[in-house]
Amino acid sequence: MRSNDYVSAMRGEDVLVSTPAGLCCPAGGFYIDPVRPVDKALITHGHSDHARAGHGAVLATPETLDLMRLRCGDDCAGTMQAARYGETIAIDGVAVSFHPAGHVLGSAQIRVERGGVRVVASGDYKDVADPTCAPFELLACDVFITEATFGLPVFRHGDPAAETAKLLQSVALFPERAHLVGVYALGKAQRVIALIRQAGYDKPIYLHGALENLTRYYVARGIELGELRLARNAGKAELAGAIALCPPGALKELWSRRFPDPVTSFASGWMRVRARARQRQIDLPLVISDHADWDGLTATIAATGAGEIWVTHGEEDALVHWCMTSGRRARPLRIVGYGEEEADVDAGSEPASSETGTIDSDGSVPNGSDRNGNGETLS
Ligand SMILES: [Zn+2]
Ligand SMILES: [Zn+2]
Repeated sequence: MRSNDYVSAMRGEDVLVSTPAGLCCPAGGFYIDPVRPVDKALITHGHSDHARAGHGAVLATPETLDLMRLRCGDDCAGTMQAARYGETIAIDGVAVSFHPAGHVLGSAQIRVERGGVRVVASGDYKDVADPTCAPFELLACDVFITEATFGLPVFRHGDPAAETAKLLQSVALFPERAHLVGVYALGKAQRVIALIRQAGYDKPIYLHGALENLTRYYVARGIELGELRLARNAGKAELAGAIALCPPGALKELWSRRFPDPVTSFASGWMRVRARARQRQIDLPLVISDHADWDGLTATIAATGAGEIWVTHGEEDALVHWCMTSGRRARPLRIVGYGEEEADVDAGSEPASSETGTIDSDGSVPNGSDRNGNGETLS
């Protein structure tokens, strides 16, 4: 393998190239997770920075296509084609296949092979168990394209079950208070519910309206989440001692005032950084992430056997440095436009205050609507 490294390095660019619109396969005439509208797009997963509206043709897993329709409407692409995990699809002499990325429901790594050179674009991924999606599949390849959201040695996420236990201990300690947990609408919300259920908690869990459609979709796909109720239909007395999930932005909004003396929590890999938790006035930070941490990134990179690593969104430089000092060729892709749903707490996820159930492309409710949402009775 090592003797082929130089050849592979030259040929990686014959398979995929980095352009301002995103990763492009000129031979196949397609892009992967393009940040601008293109004719042919292969989409790794449903987060809004990866799955944008406006492409001519979209190829993605059935779940990702459903999630795109849910978030952006039925007309969000010209045509949509489903790719099952493991199925190989030929596009103008280029072989592409989708494989589980372990990030959110339907998330995929996209393997692109041309002339014997295998390039894997992993999208966002994590290598730890998640009851709400298929586990990450390790793919041997020549070039591995990795995210670097948590690409610094300081990021070690720890055990999600232990973080969930912290939440339940706090619920037991303060039976008269509500616990509000900030979560991203796609993936994190459903995973946190599943983790709470795995820990044995079987009371109803309350949801902000902005989480309703996506959570309902997970349940329809067979993910068991137990009894869920909309917080807007509950009185204050009922919410004493309850756990409620909401978009992070709703934690400090008027919406949260319906809850008795709420303990605010936030489930994110960023909660490893104490300053972030303090800045957001989070009482109970929970380090639960849908991205690989430093150990996960470096172990995965090593296990792929790839001689060359391309690094995208996040802490590119630190991870590139680690790759090079461990004897791999590596470079940052510097594609602009991936918003890091986890980093984007103050932008994409912020409003989400309306209870109308409408969800925009970020999984949150448009700014203009928070007046109707907050103006409702706050019982
Ligand atoms: Zn993502
Ligand atoms: Zn991402």
